[in-house]
Amino acid sequence: MSDYTISLVPKVSRYVFDEVVVNDILKWLVSKDIVKAELSHCILGNLGYAISDGAQYIVSEPQFLPYQLDTNGLEITTERTVFDTGQNGIDRIICPSCTENIVDNEWDLDSWCQGFTNNLLCPICSTESEIQQYVFEPQWGFCNIGFTFWNWPELKPEFIVELQEKLNCDLAVVRSHI
Ligand SMILES: [Zn+2]
Repeated sequence: MSDYTISLVPKVSRYVFDEVVVNDILKWLVSKDIVKAELSHCILGNLGYAISDGAQYIVSEPQFLPYQLDTNGLEITTERTVFDTGQNGIDRIICPSCTENIVDNEWDLDSWCQGFTNNLLCPICSTESEIQQYVFEPQWGFCNIGFTFWNWPELKPEFIVELQEKLNCDLAVVRSHI
C-alpha cells in the first residue's frame, strides 16, 4: 500500500529555534505517550519516533492509526524543506501581487530551497513576494522545521492549536501521498 503523511509546518520561511525547542516538543509528545522517546526505523528513509498508545487521543478516527504498520512514526525535520503534497500534486498557486494562478507557468523553488531568498518570483507579473504569501492549493509548507506523522489519520484541531501555541507560530497542515 502507499504511504501518506500529515506535516505540521510553521508558516514562516525561517523559524528561529534551537535544539532545546525541538527537545521540549519531543518531551511533551512523549509525556502524553503520543510517540516513543527513542529513534527507530518507523518512517521511510530516515529515523523517527514510533507511534505510542496516547496517539488515540489526538486523532479523530483512532481506529485508523497505523499500529500494525512498520511505517507509523513521527519525523522531525530540522532543515530548510519544501513540504509538498507528493502525489496529491498542486492545483493552484496564487500570486499575492497579481492574484493570477501561476501553476502552469515556470515557477522555481530553487532559490528558496537553497536559502538565498524567502521569496518566490511570480512568472506572470515578475514581482517577488514572500513565499508564505502565495496560496498553494492544496496546502504546501515551507520552513526549516516540520513535524510529519506517517500514515496517521486526521489530527484533532485541538492538538494542532496546542502545538501552534508551543511553537508560537501558525502552522500549515500539509497532506502528502508518497
Ligand atoms: Zn504575480
